[in-house]
Amino acid sequence: MVEYYVPKWEEIEEGILDVVEKMVNDDFVPDVIVAILTGGVIPAKLVADALGIRNIKYIDIKFYKGVESRERKPVIKAVYVDNLENKKVLIIDDVADTGETLDAVGNIITMYNPSLIRSATVYVKPWSRKYPDYYYKILDKWIIFPWDKWEVVRENTNAPIDKKEKYFDILRKLRK
Ligand code: 5GP
Ligand code: MG
Ligand code: MG
Repeated sequence: MVEYYVPKWEEIEEGILDVVEKMVNDDFVPDVIVAILTGGVIPAKLVADALGIRNIKYIDIKFYKGVESRERKPVIKAVYVDNLENKKVLIIDDVADTGETLDAVGNIITMYNPSLIRSATVYVKPWSRKYPDYYYKILDKWIIFPWDKWEVVRENTNAPIDKKEKYFDILRKLRK
């Protein structure tokens, strides 16, 4: 049985501020943020907002098919980046599990000759082979984020999520 952890929005905000504080204490302010699609988009925007940065780029990469079920390797779908030469780059995702996604994205970003690459996530699993440079918490459960709960509910209708009845109504209409 999969154990879930369902952080509230308040915890995400606290986690983002914690990560940003660690970066600033380190004198690290990126020139460019690279968000990993799609789970990294909201954390990337929140970090960018706290630092006063507008420059966000994206990498579309897919590894997981569902809760705890993954492909053999992360698959790069598209790379939406430019002008990283001699820039300080921060790669952001919501969570690192095996660490393969951060590793693959780091390898792609390296090819654009930035001056520095660091990475940040809100959570990291204890078994990850690559820890991000900045993270909020280590957690050994499947995390259901405010931005991917319906994805989980579609797979497991028993997932511990609020407002499910309303979503099931929507789903019935969607599937008609
Ligand atoms: P990794 O490549 O480190 O194994 O997995 C990282 C990617 O898988 C992240 O981009 C994230 O979207 C997804 N992922 C891994 N673990 C979790 C989890 O516990 N909850 C959610 N929602 N996504 C996860
Ligand atoms: Mg992801
Ligand atoms: Mg995701």
